[in-house]
Amino acid sequence: MQYKVSHGETFEINTLVLDLNGTLSVNGWVLEGVKERIDKLNSLGFKIILFTGNQRGTAGKLCGDLGIEYKVAQTCKDKEEEMLKLDTNKCAAIGNARIDIGTFKHAKLSILTLQAEGIHAKAISHVDIIVPSILDALDLFINKDSLCATLRE
Ligand SMILES: [Mg+2]
Repeated sequence: MQYKVSHGETFEINTLVLDLNGTLSVNGWVLEGVKERIDKLNSLGFKIILFTGNQRGTAGKLCGDLGIEYKVAQTCKDKEEEMLKLDTNKCAAIGNARIDIGTFKHAKLSILTLQAEGIHAKAISHVDIIVPSILDALDLFINKDSLCATLRE
């Protein structure tokens, strides 16, 4: 998907890199509305991939249910290494924690989700946008105008 922001600045995002705990799931549960948004984003042509420490051991089942791919990444450095295997200039990263700085550092666009598990203060300086929930983060890629409006100078 191509995005046009101010002064003719454009960029393209084709991959969404998600974190699991505290981001895609909150206290172990996936919020209602996530699945339909993931389906919609898949239909729009986005590749969606989860990098997770798999703290609760639930990533396999959860990703199977959602129809997305995942990579186990136990540390910030692991996430960074997985991120660098992708075309980072066309990636957006969505996360909540210190471990996600590994993806935030290299993504074209980085988003924090401020949900019940919290966000790490050090992650704030590595992101472009902070939203109240994963639903809002995913909606930014469904409602292109909202994302461009938030990024406009
Ligand atoms: Mg997390």
